[in-house]
Amino acid sequence: MTTPLNPDLHCHSVFSDGTLTPEELAARAKTNGVDLWALTDHDEVGGQQRALEAARAQGLDCVTGVEVSVTFADTTVHIVGLGFDHADPRMAEGLADTRDGRGPRAREMAAQLEKAGIPGAYEGALKYVGNPRLIARPHFARYLVETGVCRDTAEVFRKYLTEGNPGYVPHRWARLGDAVRWIVQSGGLAVIAHPARYRFTPIEEYALFTEFRQHGGQGVEVITGAHSTQEALRYADMAREFGLAASRGSDFHSPDESHTDLGKLPALPADLTPVWSLLAGRVHGAASA
Ligand code: AMP
Ligand code: MN
Ligand code: MN
Ligand code: MN
Repeated sequence: MTTPLNPDLHCHSVFSDGTLTPEELAARAKTNGVDLWALTDHDEVGGQQRALEAARAQGLDCVTGVEVSVTFADTTVHIVGLGFDHADPRMAEGLADTRDGRGPRAREMAAQLEKAGIPGAYEGALKYVGNPRLIARPHFARYLVETGVCRDTAEVFRKYLTEGNPGYVPHRWARLGDAVRWIVQSGGLAVIAHPARYRFTPIEEYALFTEFRQHGGQGVEVITGAHSTQEALRYADMAREFGLAASRGSDFHSPDESHTDLGKLPALPADLTPVWSLLAGRVHGAASA
C-alpha cells in the first residue's frame, strides 16, 4: 500500500442503514478520489465480501469494517472496527447478539408512533430495509419523509425517534469491552466513532477514552462528517492526550441524506498517527490483486 492521500474509513450500505449497495459505494468512492476505503455497516459484516470484491474491481484499496453499537454510561456509543477477519466466528456471534433486540425495538417504536397518530410505521420502515437482520431508525425516518410527516430525515430526528420524542425506545447495546474484544481478537483495530456526537460530560468522556484504551482500543475518529472544524481540533487534542491513532471517515449513508460525500473531507492534522499506518498488513490491495 502506498500512503493514502484520501482515505475514507466509515460509510454504510443497504446491509445496514445506507441506501447504496457495496458495489455502488465502491464506485462512488473511486469517482470521488478515495484511495483507501472501508464499508462499516452497523452491527453487520454481511456486506464485507462484496465490498472487498467491488473495491478490487474498481482498483481501490480496501480494509474490512464494522460499526458496533455499544451502551456506555447509559449512552449509545459507536465503535468502528477496521482490518479484522470478517469471517471470525466470535465477531459474528457478538454482532448477532447485538442485532438481536432490533426487531422488538422496532415494533415498540411503531407502537409509539401509532399513538402519536402515525399508523403503519413498522410495515412502512420495512420497505426501506435491505437486510432483514437489521432494522434501524433511518428506515423509519425514510418512511416518515415518504408519507409527508416530515420534510427530511433531519426533521424526523428532531421531532421523532430521539430521546423525549415519540418513537424513542431506549435500548441496551453491546458492552464497550466486548465490542473492542471482538474487533481486536479478530485481528482488527478499534476506533471510537464521531466522539463529539455523544454529548458526554468531561468526566464521562474521560472514562470512555480511558476504558477504551484499557480494553485495547487504538484509534479515534478526528475527521468525520459528524464533526465541525472546532470538534475536529478538540478530538485531535484528545488523540494526542490519550496516545490514540486518528481516523477519517465521511459516515456517508445516502446521496439524498448525507451532508458529507465519500472522500470529501479535510486532511488529518499532520502530527497525528493515522490509523492507516497501523493497517498496512491488512489492506486488500487493488494493485496486488
Ligand atoms: P439505530 O442504530 O437504529 O439507533 O440508528 C442509528 C442511526 O440513525 C445512526 O447511525 C444514523 O444513521 C441515524 N441517526 C441517528 N441520529 C440522527 C440524527 N440526529 N440525524 C440524522 N440521522 C441520525
Ligand atoms: Mn447509521
Ligand atoms: Mn455512528
Ligand atoms: Mn456510521
